Amino acid sequence: MAVSGIGAYDPDNIFAKILRGEIPCKKVYENEWALAFNDIGPKAPVHVLIIPKGPYVSFVDFSARASDDEITGFTRAVGHVATTLGLNEPGYRLIGNVGPDSGQEVPHFHVHLLGGHPLGALVS
Ligand code: C5P
Repeated sequence: MAVSGIGAYDPDNIFAKILRGEIPCKKVYENEWALAFNDIGPKAPVHVLIIPKGPYVSFVDFSARASDDEITGFTRAVGHVATTLGLNEPGYRLIGNVGPDSGQEVPHFHVHLLGGHPLGALVS
């Protein structure tokens, strides 16, 4: 189901359930503020989702309401995952879907980290 970028947070969304341990995930990394796990439907050899632990619907919601510590912790988690997976030199792509036009399915802010082979131009 597509969602808008702002609005009430649904505590029963699938990523909230993963954070509560009610649904399993293949964890890649975790810190105080963020969790990273492999996407169940990978679109590249490496496809990791990084999510904040706080209840944010989208990037716009996260950027507006998260504390400085949460934003720092989340950002560092993204960088840590890219670095430990050895992606900095060949490169990788970060994608954050927001709202219906993007096709955002899960109404808990997340970033897709894609890599492991040449990804091609996103916009040509
Ligand atoms: O950005 P968007 O909301 O469209 O992406 C949601 C992503 O969550 C999808 O790539 C989907 O494969 C992934 N997913 C997952 N584990 C689940 C449910 C969805 O990795 N249990």
